[in-house]
Amino acid sequence: MNILLLGATGSIGDSVLSVIKENHSELNLFGITFHKNKNKSQEIIKDFKPEFAYVEDRSTFEDLKDTSDITFLNGDSSLKELIEHDDVDVIISAISGFAGLKATYLAASTGKKILLANKESIVAGGDLITARAKKFNSKIIPIDSEHNAIFQCLSGQRSPDDVQNITITASGGPFIGKKISDLKDVTKDDALNHPNWDMGSKISIDSATLVNKCLELIEAKYLFDLEESIFDLVIHPQSIVHSVVTYKDGSSICQMSMPDMRVPIAHALSNEHRLPINFEKINFNDLNLSFHAFPEDRLQIQKIAREVCNSGGHLGTIFNAANEVAVESFLNDQISFDKIYEVIHRTFDNNSMSKDVSIESIYEADTQTRIKAKKVVKSIT
Ligand code: NAD
Ligand code: MG
Repeated sequence: MNILLLGATGSIGDSVLSVIKENHSELNLFGITFHKNKNKSQEIIKDFKPEFAYVEDRSTFEDLKDTSDITFLNGDSSLKELIEHDDVDVIISAISGFAGLKATYLAASTGKKILLANKESIVAGGDLITARAKKFNSKIIPIDSEHNAIFQCLSGQRSPDDVQNITITASGGPFIGKKISDLKDVTKDDALNHPNWDMGSKISIDSATLVNKCLELIEAKYLFDLEESIFDLVIHPQSIVHSVVTYKDGSSICQMSMPDMRVPIAHALSNEHRLPINFEKINFNDLNLSFHAFPEDRLQIQKIAREVCNSGGHLGTIFNAANEVAVESFLNDQISFDKIYEVIHRTFDNNSMSKDVSIESIYEADTQTRIKAKKVVKSIT
């Protein structure tokens, strides 16, 4: 199976490459894309010898283009050709943030299998990506761990209205048990230091604020085409139960594994049989699992996510862009951690975007929201 890995130099990229390495007789890395990490991309090219490497950043492309005998590409039309290449069987969408929308949108039109990690493209793109995937017969399989768990638990479903409720679990992140008002002075290192997962910086901050779970609620609503009210969010500090589907006859089915992104990736890459990986087993002889209510002071941010699900239009684009600007501003030392929420709330309130969504209007809403959010950041600093 030939794989095109979008965002190969990131944390999800690492996990995908590890699964490919362990299953090299079945899986082949055909192509990669990345932004500008030269060292990491050169290591991947040396180890896996893909045929193509698309480099988003022009000057990095100029530096790399004659350094190896593989084909380096740059520019939107080359990206489109690579995504549509006849030899690509599976596309893995693992770019971080709104930057992943362009490639995910192109992938949705190919009729190929797409493994989706880039939740921001679904949140910002509303039902545009899922509708496009449906139209072109592209099969989206989530590799975000909670959504992959739901996908696996739903495979026991017999009729579309069998499901009573879906519980999405959240680790609680590094500040579990703390109130927003306790988080004024936390540092970047504190916020990036996730207890269970080793991830890129943007999603690590989202996990620390719990905005990640709000993005995931929207992601789940669109991917599984279910009402927002079906989904509950719950804190589960061990990150072993990745989500739970409760059926109308009273059975709750969950998917469990130690926190390791290679597990959902291996599942999603499998066809007739499950792909073996060298994973850490759950020790059932000494296992304490706990579940707690989502913290009260994050219910307001959860409410925004539920409003996005119910009202649609450009609200997902606005929520996503406001959050991306807030996270970047925290990472650039412009605002303190607790102000991330204020930037999102003040940017999200009183917006007047139209309900007609197209790919162009999403880019426009994203641009306008970023301008507004930056003004909010400026007013705080
Ligand atoms: P990361 O920051 O480690 O890697 C991001 C990748 O995207 C890199 O390869 C980078 O080169 C590429 N990229 C960044 N900006 C780009 C741009 N402008 N154009 C093209 N490429 C660009 O991120 P990550 O942690 O691997 O997360 C990737 C996605 O997967 C995110 O949407 C995240 O929410 C989702 N996800 C990650 C994890 C995890 O464990 N890391 C778990 C679930 C979901
Ligand atoms: Mg997740």
